[in-house]
Amino acid sequence: VTSRLNQPTVLPAEPSWWLQEALQFEGDPPALPALESTIEADVAILGGGYTGLWTALSLRERAPNLRVVIVEDTVCGGGASGKNGGFVHGYWLSSAKWAANFGDDVVRELTHFGALAQDGIRTFCTAPGVDVWWADNGIIKFSGSPAQDAAIERIIATARRLGATDLVIPLSRAEVQERCRSPHFRAGLWIREGATVQPARLARALRRAALERGVVIYENTPAKDVRVGAPHTVLTPRGAIAARDVVLALNAGLTARPDIAPHVMNFSSFMVITEPVPDLLTEIGWTGGEGLDDARMFLHYFRTTPDGRIAMGSGSGPIDFNGILQPRVFFDAASAARAETALRRFFPGLGDRCVARAWGGPIDVSADGLPFFGTLRPGRVHFGCGYSGHGVNATWIGGMTLASLVLGEDNAFTRSVFCRRRWSAFPPEPLRTVVGRLVRSAIIACEEADEDGVPAPLPARLGAAIPRAFGMRVGTR
Ligand SMILES: Cc1cc2nc3c(=O)[nH]c(=O)nc-3n(C[C@H](O)[C@H](O)[C@H](O)COP(=O)(O)OP(=O)(O)OC[C@H]3O[C@@H](n4cnc5c(N)ncnc54)[C@H](O)[C@@H]3O)c2cc1C
Repeated sequence: VTSRLNQPTVLPAEPSWWLQEALQFEGDPPALPALESTIEADVAILGGGYTGLWTALSLRERAPNLRVVIVEDTVCGGGASGKNGGFVHGYWLSSAKWAANFGDDVVRELTHFGALAQDGIRTFCTAPGVDVWWADNGIIKFSGSPAQDAAIERIIATARRLGATDLVIPLSRAEVQERCRSPHFRAGLWIREGATVQPARLARALRRAALERGVVIYENTPAKDVRVGAPHTVLTPRGAIAARDVVLALNAGLTARPDIAPHVMNFSSFMVITEPVPDLLTEIGWTGGEGLDDARMFLHYFRTTPDGRIAMGSGSGPIDFNGILQPRVFFDAASAARAETALRRFFPGLGDRCVARAWGGPIDVSADGLPFFGTLRPGRVHFGCGYSGHGVNATWIGGMTLASLVLGEDNAFTRSVFCRRRWSAFPPEPLRTVVGRLVRSAIIACEEADEDGVPAPLPARLGAAIPRAFGMRVGTR
């Protein structure tokens, strides 16, 4: 048992290590000028993360004359797109959960879209002149405790049932250890369709591609309001955009809207990255570049960088109240400490090697765990959110879908499960936050007890069972 840190060795800070690295790689360019006047556009996209940028690129590709404008509060990549783990994969890793919640046909549909997205992202990331550290080495999901073994088995069984044995490959404990040695890795599986990327470099490469294709981007320009009309008016501090279509690509920035709030809550995830430790990676045999994650509900995820660092995240950060972003989802020291504890526990060889940076950010969790895209009534205001911590791949689907909605197309994207299903809702506030926080603490306590090989306290087990007792699809273990 590794003693758990009460304080991380490095407090969470902005920007993420990824964004800092990506901006340095570009020579630290200044932000694009803010909007200072009233302009007209065909489509105004709010938010310059993956969702907004993929939507803009798809629109310009499919309708080259369309005037597309993006307004971004900070800089493109300043949100979750510039701070995530960089794990890119479709829907196989959670296929057992989707099968239990929606049935096998929906799993077939989800994995089909996931594979399309993976191909689309791969094509972009491997194009000449794009250097985003695309590493197509698959992802290993391993069991980190006896309690997690069954979760791995369920994914393998689902893949077998759906005939995907070439995509989801079981690994014995010895086979997992061969790819990366840790005293706590048990048996697992390898998802062939999985890659890692430098997430902020991807956001910045999308920004560059959008600019090259004629998208107009204003940075340091928060949208303050959208007045619905014909055209709609997007108000910013010193300007406005009159546009026929508006796309809300705001991720966690959407969760305070009264029409979205019942369906999405902000959880948070925290990451730490080490100084370069290439000698350790060689020693433990982790030289294949695979991303790794465990089978907890509040996932631990690990990956490497080309200069031999280990970047690691824990999905156990605090929950926001009422969809309003609070500092705790960016700067929670206890969450950074939990991530660092797990990092040092899984890789004891780190010894006194340093953590170079820590950061965190909100995760827009939908009530059924899948993203949803649609058009709000009245008017032509389209939106996408609810990625639930799995957005690097799914934002490509979001971009294609939102572009289709803007263009009024009836196609496979607009008819997909992401658009057609009924939106599930969380309980109303303050119940959902109070219960959400209680269940979160209970699940963390149970998962830590599992890892330490001791029984979880009874109150924690009871708290962790609340979502299942109420038939909820998220927050269950
Ligand atoms: C720590 C962490 C780790 C993660 N790891 C993974 C992972 O490994 N794999 C994975 O698939 N997913 C992961 N995710 C989730 C993934 O990062 C997101 O789902 C994805 O980036 C969402 O993209 P987006 O464009 O919708 O949102 P964002 O990138 O957040 O973009 C929204 C943009 O809107 C801007 N904005 C907000 N309000 C306004 C306003 N009023 N006006 C104008 N602009 C505004 C923000 O500044 C932001 O840039 C992780 C998330 C976090 C936080």
